[in-house]
Amino acid sequence: DLILHNDKFIREEELVISKEDRGYQFGDGIYEVIRVYEGNLFTAKEHIDRFYDSAEKIKIVIPYTKDVFHKMMYDLVEQNEINNGQVYVQVTRGASIRQHHFPADTPPVLIGYTKTVERPVELMEAGVRATFIEDIRWLRCDIKSLNLLGNILAKQEAHDKGFYEAILHRGEVVTEGSSTNMYGVKDGVIYTHPTDNLILPGITRSVILTLCEKLEIPVQETAFTKTQALEMDEFFLSSTTAEVMPIIEIDGQAIGGGTPGPLTKKIQEAFKANLNLGVKA
Ligand code: PLP
Repeated sequence: DLILHNDKFIREEELVISKEDRGYQFGDGIYEVIRVYEGNLFTAKEHIDRFYDSAEKIKIVIPYTKDVFHKMMYDLVEQNEINNGQVYVQVTRGASIRQHHFPADTPPVLIGYTKTVERPVELMEAGVRATFIEDIRWLRCDIKSLNLLGNILAKQEAHDKGFYEAILHRGEVVTEGSSTNMYGVKDGVIYTHPTDNLILPGITRSVILTLCEKLEIPVQETAFTKTQALEMDEFFLSSTTAEVMPIIEIDGQAIGGGTPGPLTKKIQEAFKANLNLGVKA
């Protein structure tokens, strides 16, 4: 496999990362995961915009134009002959003597690589189970930061208890999942947390909201509580890799009838149709 190191394609064995890379020592960097369907980068522009936004929010300057970066992502997928998969790309503030404040004149370090991933078709059909876990993360969850301790501790706790995902909440208020956005459906209306500093503005979330507008499904970008979550008619999560995933049970309590709900299924179908699978680009 070829991996991207700054603007060069190299073999993995050739990659050298400094012991003092700030990503490695501080989690001082940001990342993106972009889905590849049938060789095409899905919503590449949106992911690239968020990558540059995240970098800007932590004052890392990516030394390539977005067009050049887009071409790098495209080449990475092509070189590795990825059909269905994903690109992982991250940029750190670079390597310099360990000190908390930013180093002067240190170039950022970019790494990108691909892997093959299939769509989680069976899980999307059956639905998954989730558990409430307190959201202990910082107050800039809008940044796709490499610092994922709050997320991974939540995911691990969910995983240990046999759940697919953690539904994070700050006090009573549901924010998002450990690596997903969360939605409840009540009386035909979809509720999801607004995009502020407490959640990541998911690209899949924005695709879903656009599809809902087309389908004339009302959406309220309004936060809801844990109690309200348990009373929803349907519940689902979204992410680049999980797509639109029904949640059929929260902490052992069935949501709706304990099966994927009709609106969730409708959105899943619209999402799939929007991928134009099997249509030559
Ligand atoms: N929320 C968090 C915390 C995430 O890490 C992710 C992505 O993995 C998402 C939401 C979903 O975002 P996207 O749809 O852009 O993958």
